Amino acid sequence: MSAEPEESVVQQGRDEGASATGSERTPRYEEERGGAGTPDNFQRLWTPHRMAYIKGEGRPTGAGEDDGCPFCEIPRMPDEEGLVVSRGTSVFTVLNLYPYNSGHLMVVPYRHVADYGDLDEAEYLELATFTQRALTALRKCSGAQGFNVGMNLGLVAGAGIAAHLHQHVVPRWGGDTNFMPVVGHTKVLPQLLRDTRQMLADAWPAS
Ligand SMILES: [Zn+2]
Repeated sequence: MSAEPEESVVQQGRDEGASATGSERTPRYEEERGGAGTPDNFQRLWTPHRMAYIKGEGRPTGAGEDDGCPFCEIPRMPDEEGLVVSRGTSVFTVLNLYPYNSGHLMVVPYRHVADYGDLDEAEYLELATFTQRALTALRKCSGAQGFNVGMNLGLVAGAGIAAHLHQHVVPRWGGDTNFMPVVGHTKVLPQLLRDTRQMLADAWPAS
């Protein structure tokens, strides 16, 4: 229901085009809108899916592994459904649902652990190995020219899911940022996640 008036705004701007003047547009606009708001010449790019992120859908309800932690649930799903790229003995890799760039993945221990210092030797060794393999796979299938690699430990450090640590691997290319994220706070991603997952799974090094 609430989307209808907004769609009419976009429609009106498209229909009237450059020939319309502000004085012609305003009365008709306000008639349609019931006078709410002030008309302008901007088009709107609606991204309702972002609301799920803003409202925290899928976020754990607490710090425990039984509080809906997605990193504990994902390994129980089939690869395609969970967007799992590869599975090791102690860690797995999964695509980020809210990627900074196409191919943004995370290396995650199976064990629900918050602090890097709490990883045991097998876990941190395989986390490092899988980070290396992620770089190899991303270079191979997408020609990444650089990477941002790292962890946000703790909510104050920016961790979305602080209770279960995860290492981000974000591929970078020259010119991969533009006015959209800087001014518009909107990332434009050229590839669907399931296609990215398949491509990376195919490119994942055997050892
Ligand atoms: Zn967890």
